[in-house]
Amino acid sequence: MPKLKSLRGLCAPISVLSVLCIFLSFSAAAQTSTYTQDWCKALPRPEYKALQRVLPNETWFEVYKVAPATFAIYEPHQSEETISYLIVGTKQAVLFDTGMGIGDLQKVVRQLTSRPVVVMNSHTHDDHVGDNWQFPFVFGMDTEFTKKNAKGSVEDAQAEIASGEICGDLPAKFDPKTYRTKPWHISIWIHDGFKVNLGGRTVEVIATPGHTPDAVSLIDRENGLLFTGDTYYPAPIWLYRPETDLDAYVASVKKLAALAPSVKLVLGAHNIPVAEPSVLAELVTAIENVRAGKIAAQPQSDGKAIYKAGKISFLMKAAK
Ligand SMILES: [Zn+2]
Repeated sequence: MPKLKSLRGLCAPISVLSVLCIFLSFSAAAQTSTYTQDWCKALPRPEYKALQRVLPNETWFEVYKVAPATFAIYEPHQSEETISYLIVGTKQAVLFDTGMGIGDLQKVVRQLTSRPVVVMNSHTHDDHVGDNWQFPFVFGMDTEFTKKNAKGSVEDAQAEIASGEICGDLPAKFDPKTYRTKPWHISIWIHDGFKVNLGGRTVEVIATPGHTPDAVSLIDRENGLLFTGDTYYPAPIWLYRPETDLDAYVASVKKLAALAPSVKLVLGAHNIPVAEPSVLAELVTAIENVRAGKIAAQPQSDGKAIYKAGKISFLMKAAK
């Protein structure tokens, strides 16, 4: 779970709190106009114009070739704007996250590669594991958080399609009434340093706990690609949930920043798939400045605040 949803998106139309929601929309908009706009209006994001789109007839997903044999599978019609990645070698492919489970991801993947596909998740929040159930091989981190989430959920999934969360049309075959995160089976437990030889390229797991206990990044060292999941993406990074550990997050972003000299492209899991490696050092500075109390809070609803430090921003519990 990633970006800040519009306050409108958080307010159900039949909610008894709707009057309060309208009030919050206006008051918060005055304070943080950049982040409380209707997320739909930011689409299409201009950064995508420079990327090579493939499978242009897909309607729910937009697919971009972001590096050789490397595809970003973007879901622009849901407010999370989740991005999954297919990393293809000569023998097999890794699917790093499976998105919302709203469109048919397996159908898209099958058009991109005929090789065996293993799923790894950047972490197991619902917006990254939605189509895990479609794939026979899912690798998972050996944490209680992962095991709990692998049982699936209804509530988290239903919240993703609440009023204001969808922009455009849901797929024709999608049934909102029965939508849930389906459970999945974990084939192999993975750990920091775990490598997968895809044939001609290798990806390595870097444990980056913080956003969640099971958060990982993936690095393809030969090609200089670093896939960061929700540890970095170019929107307010969610660090307020009970499963978040800020000390662990700081240690993880330092670990990633140390890799920057060998990284050409940083690929995050929401909004826009490509960033310069310089964002990694900026991320360290940003979170350290926030924790040192140097960044002014922009108050949001429910005791949360956005802390914007340069180009990086975080959605966190407001400091007391
Ligand atoms: Zn998340």
